[in-house]
Amino acid sequence: MIFNIVIVGAGVIGLSIARAIGERTNLSVLIIDKEDDFGRGISSRNSEVIHSGLYYEPNSLKAKYCTEGRELLYDYCKRHNVWTKQCGKLIVGSAHQISELEELFNNGLKNSIPDMKIIGKKEIESIESKIIADSAIYIGCTGIISTHELMSVFYSESQKSNHDYLFKSKVVGLKQLESGYIIDIENSLGDIEQVTSNWIINSAGLESDFIAELINKDFPKIKFVKGCYFKLSSKWKGAFKKLIYPLPDKEHGTLGIHLTLDQSGSVKLGPSAHWIEDKKENYKVDDDLIDLFYDEGKLYIKDLDKNDLSPDYSGIRPKIWDEKNSMPDFYINHEEEKGYPGLINLIGIESPGLTASLAIGNKIAEMIN
Ligand SMILES: Cc1cc2nc3c(=O)[nH]c(=O)nc-3n(C[C@H](O)[C@H](O)[C@H](O)COP(=O)(O)OP(=O)(O)OC[C@H]3O[C@@H](n4cnc5c(N)ncnc54)[C@H](O)[C@@H]3O)c2cc1C
Repeated sequence: MIFNIVIVGAGVIGLSIARAIGERTNLSVLIIDKEDDFGRGISSRNSEVIHSGLYYEPNSLKAKYCTEGRELLYDYCKRHNVWTKQCGKLIVGSAHQISELEELFNNGLKNSIPDMKIIGKKEIESIESKIIADSAIYIGCTGIISTHELMSVFYSESQKSNHDYLFKSKVVGLKQLESGYIIDIENSLGDIEQVTSNWIINSAGLESDFIAELINKDFPKIKFVKGCYFKLSSKWKGAFKKLIYPLPDKEHGTLGIHLTLDQSGSVKLGPSAHWIEDKKENYKVDDDLIDLFYDEGKLYIKDLDKNDLSPDYSGIRPKIWDEKNSMPDFYINHEEEKGYPGLINLIGIESPGLTASLAIGNKIAEMIN
């Protein structure tokens, strides 16, 4: 079989790329995923937050695609009936953390985040009576989204463009031809099938470095950082209006154990951060983590009782390994200069990948078109 484009990975990124290509071209596209349906990887195991973009280094890809993607996402979801709620968020701190909050706020200004202000204890109490904090950054443009609804719309738009999907099929080999590539795919019976394509888009999430390595060992490598969630009992349902975040966890390069809401108003805390050295996908949420969640949660939630917490789900972040920088940028590159025309790698697409998905999809489609 010969295709113009093969996309490896049907997560929110691969689907968004397919959608954007279908909107601009009639090229033949095959999307391959090792699972039995789309959206079974990182994209179904996250906080479902539409981020503002205030955390990221100015001029980084994360800052660019998050801020562009946020606006595109709200607009797209409105047009396609995907559930979102622009509930806003508070990043809270105690008196000794005010300078850190100000530093973050100034970073937000550099990234042109709209509707942002620093507020004091009284205003915090008037917005969220159950929150303990001396100071906070209020951000109005943050929201929550149904990721599955979003992916379903991307999938159906891509299907309307007559794209082909191959599930339960794992990409295990990649060879460069004089023009294009041969891809080895292992099907569910263990047999190897081959397809040929001019373009390969590697959006394989947790295996994106493995796919890149099939052709060259010098592309970036990722480490796995697992994040677990604990839910709060039903008595907390409706207790909060906004998402509540502590200051970021710089050691793990994450946003810290925060409080988020879902479509029904239920409350969860997470994600925690644990390195998985052997890079095996393991989604068990250990009961013993309750102490960590209670200790972190009670720092900013009034009257939190340990019995209110119970284990929920987990996800794994694909973090590019960089000893000097715990918050590395996305790696998104057409590898033409390295001798691989037609190969586009997307490696380390951790948070805010969901928020950035439409902007990234559009960018890749423009590169190809
Ligand atoms: C705990 C956590 C919380 C997060 N919270 C947020 C948030 O609130 N807001 C936000 O914007 N972002 C958030 N993110 C980031 C966001 O979820 C990701 O950036 C995004 O989902 C990545 O999508 P993807 O398509 O790259 O990866 P995936 O969804 O993992 O898709 C990759 C696909 O590739 C397939 N695949 C892998 N290897 C192969 C192979 N060899 N052959 C064939 N198929 C293969 C997989 O089965 C998978 O379906 C969070 C991430 C985590 C882990």
